[in-house]
Amino acid sequence: MSRRILIAGNWKMNCLQADGTALAADLASRMKSGSVKCDMLVCPPFTLLKGVLDAVAGSGIAVGGQDCHAAEKGAHTGDTSAWMLKDLGCAAVIVGHSERRTNHAETDAVVKAKAEAALAAGLMVIVCIGETLDERDAGKTLEVNRTQVQGSLPDGATAENTVIAYEPVWAIGTGRTATPDQAQEVHAAIRSELRGKLGEAAANGMRILYGGSMNAKNAADLLSQADIDGGLIGGAALKADDFWTIAQSCP
Ligand code: PEP
Repeated sequence: MSRRILIAGNWKMNCLQADGTALAADLASRMKSGSVKCDMLVCPPFTLLKGVLDAVAGSGIAVGGQDCHAAEKGAHTGDTSAWMLKDLGCAAVIVGHSERRTNHAETDAVVKAKAEAALAAGLMVIVCIGETLDERDAGKTLEVNRTQVQGSLPDGATAENTVIAYEPVWAIGTGRTATPDQAQEVHAAIRSELRGKLGEAAANGMRILYGGSMNAKNAADLLSQADIDGGLIGGAALKADDFWTIAQSCP
């Protein structure tokens, strides 16, 4: 089954309005004058969502949040709901990023609840999973990722509404990328777990992104792997040239 590559940028807590909207406008103008063979998504911080949505309007670049609360509304000071993201014009949201799992003690159950809220609000959800270096060194990589798939995947997940991002924690922001073979091994294991959980068709259709120091130099090799269906990109998504080169590396 052919899966359309998704190149998604996670801007994390970076950019003020001027540089954020300039980056988005730069990407939008490249999209309008060039062509890419993939879906494009940028996930700026909450404060920049409106400006970025305006800057990429009509370009084909979708915009998403980096997190959402599991509830629709209520007494959750400082939080943002999936419905609010949808209302603003977002198409997607990332949940379960390892920085959220670590810094905010988010468990698989919390991530699953957030992912289900995203689906209920009509957003596509990107569910992040990945092992730590200790877990890899202990030979637990596949087990950890399978467990996170079982625990974090939302009920109601389909190939259309859900994307998995495999992000080995030891590769995020470190400049240390999983080799294409290392990444492919885990992606294949994730797809096999999806097969057991969702059935053949959904598993074959669901996109599994790689994330962890993907850059303009290593993207083509990673994206050529059979089960790597795109990238979730942090640092390199903050430079239009690099992000655009990654998008143009799609097979
Ligand atoms: C990320 O934050 O999702 C990520 C993959 O970051 P980086 O590309 O900087 O490793």
